[in-house]
Amino acid sequence: MLAGKTALVTGSTSGIGAGIAAALAAEGVAVILNGFGEAEAIETQRAGLADTHGVTVAHLDADLSKPQQIAAMMERAESEFGGLDILVNNAGIQHLAPIVEMPVDRWDAIIAVNLSALFHTIRAALPGMQKKGWGRIINISSAHGHVAAPEKAPYVAAKHGVVGLTKTVALEMARAGVTCNAICPGFVWTPLVQGWIADKARERGQTVDEVVAEVVHAGQPTGEFVTPEQIGGLAVFLCSDSAAQITGATLSIDGGFTAQ
Ligand code: NAD
Repeated sequence: MLAGKTALVTGSTSGIGAGIAAALAAEGVAVILNGFGEAEAIETQRAGLADTHGVTVAHLDADLSKPQQIAAMMERAESEFGGLDILVNNAGIQHLAPIVEMPVDRWDAIIAVNLSALFHTIRAALPGMQKKGWGRIINISSAHGHVAAPEKAPYVAAKHGVVGLTKTVALEMARAGVTCNAICPGFVWTPLVQGWIADKARERGQTVDEVVAEVVHAGQPTGEFVTPEQIGGLAVFLCSDSAAQITGATLSIDGGFTAQ
């Protein structure tokens, strides 16, 4: 059903984005990867997806904290790949500190990558989707798009902002065949969370397993991490015809985190 479509997945060289890119490629979607990493590892990922699924897979290395680089990436998506059918805004960064100790440059960087970058990619992608009369925009927010946590001011602010942006785009595109939804994951075992848990373990003089048991298993009623593959499956569903009337929604995939 999605074969022949083209998707850009930001921050897809790792974690959740890599899971979404793989799930879309498995449906026959040509995928533009984006994100940082070792050139060799990115090429292994790119070639692996292309060979396994017989689709075009490219990597564009735009730094999403830089609007000019986003503009250049979106222009290449248009000129080299015929424009996007699917845009997945996934890239994100995190920094933990109480608000009075939060470095100003971390606030600026998190707002730039986790929120403003979505404005830039969506703004550039929409005219092409409107012309096609079909488009799917999926923004990766977080359980922190619904609820806050201490020491995460810029992250929580950005993720709440993503929810608002998602709803606005959905309303503006309601008659254009373009849906815009936010996925709100709970804890997913990726480098972003592994780094956070390692920091907590150091701070508290605990092992990683102890922190996982206390923080993650307590916060997530199922007691299990969400997987990038499960989020990939949800993203594919949101691209399907069955999801054509789902727009402006925030879909939790959080093991009951925000049901509490
Ligand atoms: P990750 O650290 O594994 O991957 C982040 C990706 O973003 C990487 O590919 C990285 O290269 C890319 N990236 C970072 N800064 C960038 C920049 N300036 N320009 C371009 N690419 C950049 O993280 P993840 O856990 O897979 O997180 C992906 C998304 O899911 C983020 O938006 C995050 O906030 C969200 N999320 C994660 C969890 C979780 O538990 N892991 C939970 C809820 C939401």
